[in-house]
Amino acid sequence: MSQDSSVSSLSTVKCQCGIATRIFTAFTQTNAGRRFYKCSKPNGYKCDYWKWVDYPLHSRVANLIHNLKKENDNLHREKKCLETRMADLEKYLASKIEENCERLDEITVPKSEEVVVDNEDVVVDKSKKKVYKIWIVIAMLWCCFAAFWVMK
Ligand SMILES: [Zn+2]
Repeated sequence: MSQDSSVSSLSTVKCQCGIATRIFTAFTQTNAGRRFYKCSKPNGYKCDYWKWVDYPLHSRVANLIHNLKKENDNLHREKKCLETRMADLEKYLASKIEENCERLDEITVPKSEEVVVDNEDVVVDKSKKKVYKIWIVIAMLWCCFAAFWVMK
């Protein structure tokens, strides 16, 4: 796509080659927004057929369309530039995150193993204490039952 025109669709108008022409839109200063027919063959193979589709636009309207097109092109260029910068930043951040994760793994792996071992010990200790308490309660109940039985 050139900057002075853009291609839209095939038309029913035929060129000197006998094939359907394409409709282009001009974006030059004097004819911005004005459509024209042109041969649809690739450059180097096209004939010289060329004809306006639209009547000439008012110069103020053509100038406005031309300026809007320029502004739109600039915004597209800026967007592409920002997308490239963003992609570079994402790559940079991904590499930094990976680097820091590797460092974090080096730092925390030994400690986390100790913690797991400690946690297992604590869990084992807690479960042993629970069983111990249950046995004490059973023994006390048995003593109460026995005492109650003897007093009777
Ligand atoms: Zn042609």
